[in-house]
Amino acid sequence: MYNQKTYAMGAAPNEIRQIFEYGRQQAKIVGEENVFDLSIGNPSIPAPAKLNETISRLLETESSIRIHGYTSSMGGDQLREAVAKNLRERFGVQAGPENVFITCGAAPALLTVMLALKTDKSEIVGVAPYFMEYKAFAEAVGSRFVLVPADLEAFQVNISALAEAVNENTQAVILNSPNNPSGAVLTEETLRAVAKLLTERSEAYGHPIYIIADEPYRELVYDGAVVPFIPTIYHDTLVCYSWSKSLSIPGERMGYIFVPPEATDSRNLFIAVAGAARACGHICAPSVIQRAVAECIDIMPDLEAYKVNRKLLYEGLTEIGYECVKPDGAFYLFVKAPGGDAYAFAASAKRRNLLVVPSDPFGVKGYFRLGYCTSKETIERALPVFREVFEEFAKND
Ligand code: PLP
Repeated sequence: MYNQKTYAMGAAPNEIRQIFEYGRQQAKIVGEENVFDLSIGNPSIPAPAKLNETISRLLETESSIRIHGYTSSMGGDQLREAVAKNLRERFGVQAGPENVFITCGAAPALLTVMLALKTDKSEIVGVAPYFMEYKAFAEAVGSRFVLVPADLEAFQVNISALAEAVNENTQAVILNSPNNPSGAVLTEETLRAVAKLLTERSEAYGHPIYIIADEPYRELVYDGAVVPFIPTIYHDTLVCYSWSKSLSIPGERMGYIFVPPEATDSRNLFIAVAGAARACGHICAPSVIQRAVAECIDIMPDLEAYKVNRKLLYEGLTEIGYECVKPDGAFYLFVKAPGGDAYAFAASAKRRNLLVVPSDPFGVKGYFRLGYCTSKETIERALPVFREVFEEFAKND
């Protein structure tokens, strides 16, 4: 016998991966330049040159035993100190290396935090549209996952729906800003409203309700948009960060959990996080890249290519007649499917080798997600195809 729950997870298709794989196969048949794959969130700007240079230098100059050895399970001193300094300087928060736990990216950070917050009847609340792995992680640790319906006007948080979802079993609310898939950045006003509600409920229920801030896109913002640092608004926040997108190193698997010193029972919470990581089989994050990131932590991404793509795609689509809230961050557009059926739209696009992700797995019906972390040429060549599909569905409307 084997675990039927994990079997069900393994057997359930990951729709984004399936579309991506289809694109790779199709490219072999029709040629790469004829497949317009806007399905995946793989950064298309290269990692900073300084990062590669640092890795080479470390490999040449450090002792092989040391540079390839285990680090402390919570991460090497250099990187934890660098993260704490970065957080102090950028956001004016209190932070020391003892508040930082280095993980293999944001995904394990989220799983670890959810396990650390698991209690008898714990519930984890997400807000649609959401990164679909939240539900998988919450259920894997034995918590119930509750989804708050989307605010389709501005993709902020529907506060009255959140108020209905939160109850005495709620352990945490996950917020993701800038958001995958909508690209929306949560405003300070939204975050203050969430903080007010959670403060009242934490008092009423006699235990803290945490915010889990999932922040892999923190630095990916446009037109001067500001991403508030949630611990400065609500102290019971656990930050799950990743360098996958900001340094374009998703395959290196690097991220961290920040447990603010002001969080309720912060020290013990950190210990619970460390224990949860251990229970998930975490030994330490890869050591060479930990050292390299420590030296490159202050590099901000050069977003020029994403800016150009965002403008081109947003203006091109809205000119055709598509409806979409202009996103302030990340590298996605969340577009209303003409005709209202996201799967029918995506299937028609796919027949023309235009690959988009239907919105249903993100907890919202009738939209599709586009990743503009691709080449400018792909977008330029995709726009006439978007027009064809639009006209097909407009005819049926
Ligand atoms: N959270 C969100 C919203 C994401 O979009 C992703 C990856 O795309 C992750 C978490 C996982 O990131 P990582 O590569 O750091 O595990």
